[in-house]
Amino acid sequence: MRRKNVKNFHDSLHSFFCVLYTVLMPNTNETKIPMITPLVEMDGDEMTRILWKDIKEELLEPYIDLKTEYYDLGLPHREETKDQVTIDAANAAKKYGVAVKCATITPNAQRVDEYNLSEMWKSPNGTIRAILDGTVFRKPILVKGIEPVVSGWKEPITIARHAFGDVYKNTELRIPGKGRAKLVFEGEDGAVVEKEIVQFDGPGVLQGQFNKDDSISSFARSCFQYALDTHQDLWFSTKDTISKVYDHRFKDIFQEIYDNEYRRQFEAEGLDYFYTLIDDAVARVIRSRGGYVWAVKNYDGDVMSDMISTAFGSLAMMTSVLVSPEGNYEYEAAHGTVTRHYYQYLQGKETSTNPVATIFAWTGALAKRGELDEIVQLVQFAHDLEKAVLTTIENGQVTGDLIPLWKGENPAHKLTSREFLSAVRQTLDEIRA
Ligand code: NAP
Ligand code: MG
Repeated sequence: MRRKNVKNFHDSLHSFFCVLYTVLMPNTNETKIPMITPLVEMDGDEMTRILWKDIKEELLEPYIDLKTEYYDLGLPHREETKDQVTIDAANAAKKYGVAVKCATITPNAQRVDEYNLSEMWKSPNGTIRAILDGTVFRKPILVKGIEPVVSGWKEPITIARHAFGDVYKNTELRIPGKGRAKLVFEGEDGAVVEKEIVQFDGPGVLQGQFNKDDSISSFARSCFQYALDTHQDLWFSTKDTISKVYDHRFKDIFQEIYDNEYRRQFEAEGLDYFYTLIDDAVARVIRSRGGYVWAVKNYDGDVMSDMISTAFGSLAMMTSVLVSPEGNYEYEAAHGTVTRHYYQYLQGKETSTNPVATIFAWTGALAKRGELDEIVQLVQFAHDLEKAVLTTIENGQVTGDLIPLWKGENPAHKLTSREFLSAVRQTLDEIRA
């Protein structure tokens, strides 16, 4: 992977001693796991901000000499900095390569009033995605006791959604009556291309869509890279038999990039790249046992990711990672700031909000950081913590959202978020003992 940050002499010396320390000092109760490069930490809003702090205090800081570069993306601080903090955080993710993000409020008119905002700031995720130019991968967390609705699914299915263009950047018209609709392209060189769309014989509707080779290519590279990183096959599907130019361009770009840049690595790893029509893909997905990455166009991803997440169980058990074509990673939970629970919390009530996806955002980021910096203990810790979370749930200690989904052998007990975190800590200590 291309890493861009060139370390100066001081950094190299520091890294050398940190690695030496890792090797010479096995982690005991007295020594914490060291880090070399900081994680970019993006704090957020409401209930997830509360969980964020608790997760750090209960599950991370007692074990790791946690090194982060902290950016407060909570709405009050975005307002104070005129949203500059979001841009700075995204640039830091580009500089260091690995970030972990808490859920954040995307302001609407009601939030503008609630937080007394000077502007309706844009979605932080949109801003970060535009700067990193990435693809979002959503992966369900599988655990015994919460069975997928589709009984054949045994491994997670990761959806990779192209988050640019198509119907999300379309231009639409209501057609009042009879007339001719055309597609027209005027080249900078003066060349004009024209094609008739339809001869309207009465009122109707009309839509223009576009996408760009650059964006499709970054999407393809992110998908191939992610599949290699996670050692899974990659499926890609469009409707190229019907959309012979538009969707076909997606298919061709994926194939070219695969043949020229990734085929050798895929074959060496025993992995497959597989293209099929979207309707065929849907049927195969249902019949499959899971365990692959499914790349889809923007609209297909919007629709299919909600289907996949619901079919696997709960939104609170879904992680999300943004991967840029240069190999920068930003991990987060797929859910939002859980506003309803936050209002209960503000009334002094203990809530039973599920912190699992947020914990997995941290473990994903720590494992990736550990891998890049070659800190074996950090990677191991991330795996231990994930195992501790899953074991705790398998033992029937769960947050309220999982109770209606529970199919485990023994009855499940509803814990508050804090009780759940301490139960996980206890399991973690047993695993690491
Ligand atoms: P949400 O925060 O995902 O919550 C919707 C509902 O799903 C909750 O009320 C809760 O159901 C359930 N839920 C979600 N996560 C849960 C968890 N961890 N534990 C237990 N239950 C959970 O979506 P929202 O209420 O539509 O949005 C709230 C705010 O989040 C908005 O301001 C939005 O802009 C923001 N948002 C941010 C991101 C992001 O940063 N990536 C993504 C989506 C939304 P019950 O109420 O039935 O318990
Ligand atoms: Mg959707």
